[in-house]
Amino acid sequence: MKQRGEFGLIELIKEHFPTPEGMVGIGDDCATVPTSGDDLLTTTDMLIEGVHFVRSKSSPEDVGWKSAAVNLSDIAAMGGTPVATFLSIALPRDAQGEWVERFVEGYAAISHLFGVPLLGGDTTSSLRDIAINVTVEGRCERGRAISRRGAQVGHTIFVTGALGDSGGGLKALLDGDERTPEVEYLTAKHMRPMPRLAEGRELLTTGMVGAMMDISDGIASDLGHILRASGVGAVVELSSLPISEQLATFCGARGLNKFEFATSAGEDYELLLTAPAELATQVSFPLYPIGTIVEGEGIEWQLDGEQTEFNPQGYTHF
Ligand code: ADP
Ligand code: MG
Repeated sequence: MKQRGEFGLIELIKEHFPTPEGMVGIGDDCATVPTSGDDLLTTTDMLIEGVHFVRSKSSPEDVGWKSAAVNLSDIAAMGGTPVATFLSIALPRDAQGEWVERFVEGYAAISHLFGVPLLGGDTTSSLRDIAINVTVEGRCERGRAISRRGAQVGHTIFVTGALGDSGGGLKALLDGDERTPEVEYLTAKHMRPMPRLAEGRELLTTGMVGAMMDISDGIASDLGHILRASGVGAVVELSSLPISEQLATFCGARGLNKFEFATSAGEDYELLLTAPAELATQVSFPLYPIGTIVEGEGIEWQLDGEQTEFNPQGYTHF
């Protein structure tokens, strides 16, 4: 079979299912469906053992936390409020006892933190690997959910927090690195991402945001989605990327390129958005400007104002 790539396959499915008028469908962080009141938001994501987590390297509580977190993050990315989650799990025999009990502890911890009930799901067996699917329903004022399509020439590109920490943490885990303070910090960021729900809501209420999404695959890939959806290009300044001291130390000690992590490693679950530059003074949390929306297509990467050859790709599944 011809390999289409992850996004080619999604395009193929989309050809069979054009989005009905008045809804947001395939291609955004959440689908939106109008109701007589608020719009209904829905998002769903899978976590597969061996692909998204390695059982011997991640605690079950952390996997539970992350399963809910990455889905709640998609609600944050539209500026919505989560209403309920649904959890489906396929478990091999050796995960049906203590592993899944501890998984549920972690899932419950983040659900309670954000006050989101779980209302259903499905439970089944698996021959070998653990598979988890979470669906989250949310709501948002009618027609106000922030899509990926509203980036405008002249907008500043912002992110809500440090980039690349999760990728550094994953590398440390897979390499079995000694648990120095920066390794502890980075692995915690990897295992316990914080969905930016309060920030997403506050950003929506400013009415100033053009396009928004959460960063799951790294800005090299994710900003590309906003650019294609909006029909614009971008200039991104590498020296403006918020990079933690911990990631800089980690990369420095190993001869790794911190910009590679900050642009391509993904799973930071910070928000990526475009808006007039003044937005930064209108919100109660830090926003980091990393570049500008321009006419054209694709991303031009700059270092200290000069175009660079650096050409990160971002993460895709196949
Ligand atoms: P995210 O990282 O925000 O969860 P994804 O990259 O998983 O987004 O998906 C991108 C878009 O494609 C989303 O709108 C998602 O709903 C849609 N999508 C992904 N896989 C499928 C599929 N198998 N069928 C229909 N839509 C899909
Ligand atoms: Mg998303």
